[in-house]
Amino acid sequence: MAGITWHYVLKFIITGDAGVGKSSLLVRLTDQRFLANPDPTLGVEFGSKLIEIPEEGKVVKLQCWDTAGTESFRSITRSYYRGAAGCLLVYDVTSRKSFINAKSWLADVREHADPHLTCILVGNKVDLCDEEASGSSNRRREVSTDEADEWARKEGLLFLEASAKSGNNVDSAFEKASCDILHKI
Ligand code: GDP
Repeated sequence: MAGITWHYVLKFIITGDAGVGKSSLLVRLTDQRFLANPDPTLGVEFGSKLIEIPEEGKVVKLQCWDTAGTESFRSITRSYYRGAAGCLLVYDVTSRKSFINAKSWLADVREHADPHLTCILVGNKVDLCDEEASGSSNRRREVSTDEADEWARKEGLLFLEASAKSGNNVDSAFEKASCDILHKI
């Protein structure tokens, strides 16, 4: 999209437990690659990307902030949330605990972020479920699509399952949330 300017700049934050794949989703979005063994001390903090929202005929510049390791200290400050239009609330479909904890991450978002913020629940690592079906994975799904979908509806969240590893639904998650944000503008 060289030479194209953007119509809107949207700030996104990415929250959820450590290890669910937040940095990996950001790297996939901005760099189209996947690191099997990322260095946890080199958490990606920020990534930017232009995306087109064909339904709206607009180009959006995404500015995405990852918690970069601070999630384990729960030290995420108000400044992190300031000005955010969108939030990816990430859990790992093979970790029930990360899904349960998404509830408290959402409470945090609701406490600190703009009340109009669009939040999309993202069940990451869905590639492991395909591997489970083919017998090549030792991780199994612990959160069903239906359960997550039902919770997302109840909380007024958008919802998608994705994989930073395969790239499945990663761009779509940001596009879906951006589209919702543009509807509100
Ligand atoms: P973060 O702490 O939430 O930022 O998580 P990371 O992005 O550092 O990922 C934690 C681990 O999960 C790493 O070993 C990643 O390679 C792995 N991972 C992240 N996303 C996926 C995915 O979609 N599928 C699989 N199989 N592994 C993933």
